[in-house]
Amino acid sequence: MMIIMRSDASQQEISQVVERVEANGLQAHVSTGAERTVIGAIGDGRPVQRDLFTLLPGVDRVVPISRPYKLTSREFKAEDSIFPLNGVQVGGQGIVIIAGPCSVESRSQVLEVAHAVREAGAHALRGGVFKPRTSPYSFQGLGQEGLEYLAEARQQTGLPIVTEVMREEQIPLLTHYVDVLQVGARNMQNFALLHAVGESKHPTLLKRGLSATVEELLMAAEYILSHGNRRVMLCERGIRTFETSTRNTTDINAIPVLKSLTHLPVLLDPSHSTGNWNYVSAIGRAGIAAGADGLIVEVHPHPEQALSDGGQSLKPERFAELVRQTQAIAEAVGRFVYPAANHVKP
Ligand code: PEP
Ligand code: MN
Repeated sequence: MMIIMRSDASQQEISQVVERVEANGLQAHVSTGAERTVIGAIGDGRPVQRDLFTLLPGVDRVVPISRPYKLTSREFKAEDSIFPLNGVQVGGQGIVIIAGPCSVESRSQVLEVAHAVREAGAHALRGGVFKPRTSPYSFQGLGQEGLEYLAEARQQTGLPIVTEVMREEQIPLLTHYVDVLQVGARNMQNFALLHAVGESKHPTLLKRGLSATVEELLMAAEYILSHGNRRVMLCERGIRTFETSTRNTTDINAIPVLKSLTHLPVLLDPSHSTGNWNYVSAIGRAGIAAGADGLIVEVHPHPEQALSDGGQSLKPERFAELVRQTQAIAEAVGRFVYPAANHVKP
């Protein structure tokens, strides 16, 4: 349930409510809004007397949260969640573009692509060093060596780094090097990993599972939020359907649906959604038109030589064109794309 405090409630009254919540075996999650404070009292579903809280000083009202996800829901937090990422804001009116190779393959590859996407207007660099590959014989990523190259790219371009975490044990190493942890589609329901990512409190990009419903994605986000991490962005990356002409089917509906159900930022990955570079720009544009807060796009200077996902990677020139188109569409829907000049060197 949500305990909505009066707008003039004092800090002491808020603390008293938190104490009462915890004394009743519930977790208290305090959300301080511009107008008033809301305290989420989350238990394991066993009934709790509402009157335990309604009569406390400073309390305006107590309302149940009808959705199975609580902290993730718009009911709990009506305003969009916004968090800074090295000079830009994720969520809110501005659109953020993350770009880079599927995998970090070599020092020269990652530096070349980092400069190219920076030049084209990207706000963050992506690149996997631990790769979830369908075949154990496919390239699995460079591991720590790749992180060193990403760190150098960050240092040269000022771009923050997004990379995938596959196992809990990798979190200390990754949080040392990268700005955003990516939880991939295949790990969306790895609950132990979600728990650990929550405890890390590191900004996280959570991708929708290959066959996950919107509600399952939101429940996965709830694991991260309930373990203390509020800096979570969601990512639609295409789902499995009966259609075989593209790698996945972009669930464009999921964007406005998610935006209505949750306060978390919602990104679209047009690369994995389509699996074919020919369609990436069209679907990227569609995502922005549908209300996405950003894009994550695979870019490779030499896609034909890529060790993973070359067929869906844009060359830097095409990516630059997509950024320009994104700016035009953003403007048409009352948004804007952050200029590259907003970057600050870390
Ligand atoms: C990736 O971003 O390279 C990736 C493996 O994505 P997904 O988890 O969406 O398949
Ligand atoms: Mn990929």
